[in-house]
Amino acid sequence: MLENPRARLLSSSPYKQGTVVYHMCRDIRAHDNDALLYAQKLAHGKQAHLVVVYTIWNYEWLGGTQRFYDWVIPSLKEVEVTLRAHNIPLIVHVEHRRTPAYTYMETLSDVGAVVVDQIPLSFMSRWKSAFQKKYPTTPLYEVDAHNVVPVWEASSKQEFTAHAFRRKLHEKITLFVDDYSTLHKQAASLHHAPVDWQAIETNLVCRKDVSGVGSYMPGEQAAHAQLKDFFKHKLSSYEESRNAIDKDGQSNLSPYISHGNISRRRIVLELCKHLKPHQHPSQTIREIISADHNGSNGARGSAASFVEECVVRAEVAENFCFYNPDYATYEGFPSWAKETLTKARNDKREYLYTRAEFEGATTHDDIWNAAQMQMVTSGKMHGYLRMYWAKKILEWSPSPEEAMKTAVYLNDTYELDGRDSNGYVGCAWSIGGVHDRPWFGRPVFGAIRFMARSGVEKRGKIDTYIHTWLSDKHTSHD
Ligand code: FAD
Repeated sequence: MLENPRARLLSSSPYKQGTVVYHMCRDIRAHDNDALLYAQKLAHGKQAHLVVVYTIWNYEWLGGTQRFYDWVIPSLKEVEVTLRAHNIPLIVHVEHRRTPAYTYMETLSDVGAVVVDQIPLSFMSRWKSAFQKKYPTTPLYEVDAHNVVPVWEASSKQEFTAHAFRRKLHEKITLFVDDYSTLHKQAASLHHAPVDWQAIETNLVCRKDVSGVGSYMPGEQAAHAQLKDFFKHKLSSYEESRNAIDKDGQSNLSPYISHGNISRRRIVLELCKHLKPHQHPSQTIREIISADHNGSNGARGSAASFVEECVVRAEVAENFCFYNPDYATYEGFPSWAKETLTKARNDKREYLYTRAEFEGATTHDDIWNAAQMQMVTSGKMHGYLRMYWAKKILEWSPSPEEAMKTAVYLNDTYELDGRDSNGYVGCAWSIGGVHDRPWFGRPVFGAIRFMARSGVEKRGKIDTYIHTWLSDKHTSHD
């Protein structure tokens, strides 16, 4: 059963019989989930049981924070309710060790196949190889439930520019905006006790000092409500407002997309329905991507620009992490960037800060401090400021290696949408020229694109922004 281009068999033998386990990881949703639907189809063909497993890595996994679980646990609770209504048990399995023990495999007597989410990050590669070592004869499938065009279909290699990736993605996207099939009620259900959320929440091991999801409501239903609100109130002005720091012009969908509460394919399908309710989405998406970004029609420009961010930019980030194992470090930067940064290595830094000073938002620059505090307090920094924020970390760190480490650490610790390919590539774009081109040389940056404070000041009422996020901090302009 491999005619589905979103699925890959990772082991040598395919599924024959026995319980099918869907090991949910980043795509925390019950509907519109290709991995779950694929697992259900496998099970259905053999009238087998279907079980969904989610693992809580109960140590400070990837710097795991209470904020991460404040999003994940309510999302999972919602998934559990929907799955139960479909006769599908959810098992939340708690791992205490870095080397996964897969103890749930022993509690299920007759596992015939395991289906996992495609995640292009190193922890998932380790997870998959450890699983295959321990269970070499259990068929393991990987399904890309996250991207519109599955990462292995979009391109067979690392793409060095967004331009080259865009061309390939635009050629294929119309084939991949088909609607989802429906999750069916399982005829036979394995008996399994409801998840003991209280025990899980009480025993969570994570950084407790970073918590709360700000004004967001996690989960699938909230994701759909957020999308509707975006179409109703912001889509038509998205192109001109998304970079305005004093406007709430972005969709604020990233925490939902990142945790898989909604898929990018669902977002594209709804966008197409919203724009042309009576036309097939594949035709509408064709029109959107061929629309002139600079045209006078605001809505068409905005739709194209939203698709550019939500699909092209996000999926080129997946491409980078999928094909480049050094996605989160200096080593992953393109050679031209490493050369130019090496030449600039000994350039005098006007300011130098430690990680603790960055983390505490105590730099001399009140815009930077405000952006940092927006992230720490609300869990989401404005998109335009993320570029400025990361570039200044390069400017004020002793080396580009350290700058990248600091940016990734802060991004993964505080952003609700952190630990995501977009985050690694956002930092690598800003600090290491990934998917960018060489610019004019200047101290510290070499040929990496520079961003000046004056550029940010043109993006809206900066004093209001600073005041909002720095009410009790006193710093001066640089
Ligand atoms: P919108 O503008 O409404 O965009 C809709 C969706 O498009 C986003 O949710 C996201 O999935 C995608 N998108 C938008 N901009 C980009 C982009 N530049 N690259 C890739 N995809 C994009 N995004 C994350 O999801 N997680 C991160 O941890 C993250 N860290 C970043 C760090 C830095 C230094 C930089 C420069 C960018 C980072 N981004 C990250 C990308 C981008 O800033 C956010 O996706 C965006 O601000 C999220 O807000 P939104 O959903 O309201 O965006």
